[in-house]
Amino acid sequence: MNYDTLAVLAGLPEDPHGAVGLPIYAVAAYGFKTLEEGAERFASGEGYVYARQKDPTTRALEERLKALEEALDAVALATGQAATFAALLALLRPGDEVVAAKGLFGQTIGLFNQVLAPWGVRVRYVDPAPEAVREALTERTRLVFVEIVANPALLVPDLEALATLAEERGVALVVDNTFGAAGALAKPLRWGAHAVVQSLTKWASGHGSVLGGAALSRETELWGRFPQFLEPDLKGQVPWEALGPRCFPERVRTLGLSLAGMALSPFNAYLLFQGLETVALRVRRMSETALRLAEALRGHPKVKALRYPWLPDDPAYPHARKYLAAGGGIFTLDLGSLEAASRFLRTIRLLKAPNVGDARTLLVHPWTTTHSRLKEEARLEAGVTPGLVRVSVGLEDAGDLEALFREALAAV
Ligand SMILES: *Cc1c(COP(=O)(O)O)cnc(C)c1O
Repeated sequence: MNYDTLAVLAGLPEDPHGAVGLPIYAVAAYGFKTLEEGAERFASGEGYVYARQKDPTTRALEERLKALEEALDAVALATGQAATFAALLALLRPGDEVVAAKGLFGQTIGLFNQVLAPWGVRVRYVDPAPEAVREALTERTRLVFVEIVANPALLVPDLEALATLAEERGVALVVDNTFGAAGALAKPLRWGAHAVVQSLTKWASGHGSVLGGAALSRETELWGRFPQFLEPDLKGQVPWEALGPRCFPERVRTLGLSLAGMALSPFNAYLLFQGLETVALRVRRMSETALRLAEALRGHPKVKALRYPWLPDDPAYPHARKYLAAGGGIFTLDLGSLEAASRFLRTIRLLKAPNVGDARTLLVHPWTTTHSRLKEEARLEAGVTPGLVRVSVGLEDAGDLEALFREALAAV
């Protein structure tokens, strides 16, 4: 079935009352009638026990995400950062190495440098071109981590080539698919990524109203090469033998939810489940508006540079056409200087906020906000210049938006 159909039907549970929609299970614990039933539920991992690990509302969201991204399974967590952290915890051990793309989301770099590095994980940052990644791989590399679409540089990595390389070298390709909008724009698992992590806070929620994240993975033999899946667990079971490729999502659930407690609230799961019903519609509309604005504004005398992956002369265009369903709702304008960006943002009658994927257009000045903690050199390397403004296009009328941009540009 196609995305639009799955988006409204996948994951809907059978309800004893025939409810059309997803009920919220505002419940912490799930009871059993007998000792035997309790023992069976604990032993099998089937059914529900305690909501820190699994609950029916969140499970419905996971089923929907799984269908939308063509995954083997999905695990929902409290935030995008929780999802990334749990996936990394499941795959890395002290002494392991990661090859990561330069210019990742700032908090992901923080997670690598401030959380994982002190625990003995070494991270090498490279331009995520397959040749550069190949050169950075060592005997100790366990995974390659990239984003589609890298923000705010708006680059699209060559997923298929990276997946082939990862497969060849027995390392995992993990993709942050936040900008892929829960599969509405990009489906990295289809191109061979072994695991996907993402923030559902952005396009999946769609209204800037709730935080959430997910880790997903595909059918693969790769986990059979990771020592943590080959050592007997507390029950004496070897995860790879007992679970096959499901050993990865189960480990994410155990470490990220059961033990680290980064669980998504059922209320948020409900809102995200509903957000997914319109994500493809919203992303199509935002992509149309973003393309119109990009075409209208790129020749403007006050705009020094404009980046949008769906413009044929944009460096991201070839990979964008291959891996994305449309151009997406993000474009960037370089106004040439901090002063020009400052005047533009002061004038424009739109919201300024460090978020993306909202129903409202949101603008941000990465140099002084999202990337301000990085050294100047690192900012420039991430594609962040003093005059850069990132625009996350919302659902406003395209003509109104164009007029507001022109009005503010005239004041620069
Ligand atoms: C927002 C974002 C995250 C983090 O997600 P939260 O839900 O805010 O924790 C991770 N990666 C990318 C690319 C993001 O845009």
